[in-house]
Amino acid sequence: MIRPLALLTLMLFAHSSFAENLTILYTNDIESVYEPVASPWRDDMSAMGGMPHLSSLIKMHRAQHENTLLVDAGDMFTGSLSKATEGRLVFDLYSEMGYDVGNLGNHEFEYGWRILRDAMPRARFPILNANIFYENTDIPFAREYAIVKSGRYRVGVIGLMGIDAFHNTMMRSHRNGLEIRSPIEIAQSLADRLRPEVDFLIVLTHQNRTAPMQTNKESDPTVLRGFDEDYALAGKVRGIDLIVGGHSDHGLHAPVVHPETGTTIVMTFGQGMHLGRVTFDMSAEDGPRLQNGELIPVNADHLPPDPSITKLINNARAQHPALTRVVATLKRPALRLYNQESSLGSLLADALKQQAGVEVAMVPAGAIRADLQSGAITVEALLNVFPFTDQVTVVQLQGSALLKLLEKGVSLDYGLSQFSGVTLSYDSSQPVGQRIIDVSINDETLDLDRTYRFATGSFTATGGEGYDMFEDQGLEIKNTLVSDAFITVFEQWQTLSLPEKGRLQDIAL
Ligand SMILES: [Zn+2]
Repeated sequence: MIRPLALLTLMLFAHSSFAENLTILYTNDIESVYEPVASPWRDDMSAMGGMPHLSSLIKMHRAQHENTLLVDAGDMFTGSLSKATEGRLVFDLYSEMGYDVGNLGNHEFEYGWRILRDAMPRARFPILNANIFYENTDIPFAREYAIVKSGRYRVGVIGLMGIDAFHNTMMRSHRNGLEIRSPIEIAQSLADRLRPEVDFLIVLTHQNRTAPMQTNKESDPTVLRGFDEDYALAGKVRGIDLIVGGHSDHGLHAPVVHPETGTTIVMTFGQGMHLGRVTFDMSAEDGPRLQNGELIPVNADHLPPDPSITKLINNARAQHPALTRVVATLKRPALRLYNQESSLGSLLADALKQQAGVEVAMVPAGAIRADLQSGAITVEALLNVFPFTDQVTVVQLQGSALLKLLEKGVSLDYGLSQFSGVTLSYDSSQPVGQRIIDVSINDETLDLDRTYRFATGSFTATGGEGYDMFEDQGLEIKNTLVSDAFITVFEQWQTLSLPEKGRLQDIAL
């Protein structure tokens, strides 16, 4: 028989040993992918992700682990329902899933910073950023940090965005009036300030190279973009226990520990296809010790959808019935590829070329945010592919400037830009700027002295993704949204067949 005191001691011991762990559950770059995504590259499940399924998985893990914290590293917005509700649905969903802290990504600025500022209080958790300021002031745009309690641990969380993410992946008009400062200096000063007050310090980042827009990226290491800026931050800033990275979607199946500082780095592949988990032992004298971590696939075949999340999404759909309209049907699925010509990219570029009445049209690979499944295409599905507020922009482009633009298109800095009206071969093994071997425009050799009518979206036309060759070319920004141009042309076409491949040939492959 165990005497009551011994039993109590045993219980206390058991409890304390269990309770000396801290588990962080994390996501990044879900980007409002609400439905499961078909996953033909996996043989263990037919579909992954879906926010209602992710929510069920989160709740299961919260029930299994004591002292948990749920965080997101940014890019919660995009997609048609996010846009229709100006981000309010997104904050409602993350609140319902139980997020403790979030970080601002570039996509949160997609409807302009004023709309974001007005929508942020909707979230029932702090949304952080410490290095974006109102221009020429020291007034931060968002809350710089939060201290949250998890069981008996006080956890400090700081939010940061990368310089490139701010300048090259956010439309200029959406960040006018704001400026960004070095994340490293700000992280160090906040870490110094918070460290004495907390047991554990997390930095949520939204930096590194921008993510590959390719659904099956977990199975295609050639498109992964690395996490150099997170690694540099981990090496330079003292006092951080954990960096949860966003923006590059460079999924890490096991946590990476910086050899000099001991800071742990974690990140998922994005789009809510995995839930990250990392656990630390908090009992050691010299500070938190990494125990283990993993990316848990969100198996949509087995996980039941969380009804509270499904209800929020369906309510939003019911309030925006225009999104359910069918615009066309597609015979075969149109899949995106980040570093190669894709049938979906060509289809969209063809539609833009027709609507704008130009000789050449371009759709950057980074703007293609989802695949199109075969069958009926609704407005919602099409806007999920291109959720942006870009306007159709026409430029009279000198042949020499067009060649420069095509070289930029095949630089692969932000994936391979997709074209209509262009046939070219290039060699991706050559240095950037010297890759194009042969170009023809609508079956005629490119004439460097001629002027071509060219169309793209206002994001790239005003310098997005480093397309800086339009500035002095006389932009004609139309009142038509690029997304409306796609809808109009798809409705005219009705039954869509995918363009044959062969427009953009990389001889290095
Ligand atoms: Zn991002």
